[in-house]
Amino acid sequence: MKADIHPKYEQIQVTCSCGNQFETGSSTCRKLNIEVCSACHPYYTGKQKLMDTEGRVDTFNKRFKNFSGLAKKPAAN
Ligand SMILES: [Zn+2]
Repeated sequence: MKADIHPKYEQIQVTCSCGNQFETGSSTCRKLNIEVCSACHPYYTGKQKLMDTEGRVDTFNKRFKNFSGLAKKPAAN
């Protein structure tokens, strides 16, 4: 390795929002907080984690249930 051109590379502590902690190597040299990790991401757990429990269609129907503007539009003769 060439001298004085490489960034510092250290072991850092990573903390996930699920509580999981692990170490990894990084040149940032400070603790890292992440939202998902391999212990809680649905791809690895095989379990579906629903953030939005209410579907988009349900939300749309609820929001526009009293909206009848298009239906009452007079038919063009
Ligand atoms: Zn996690």
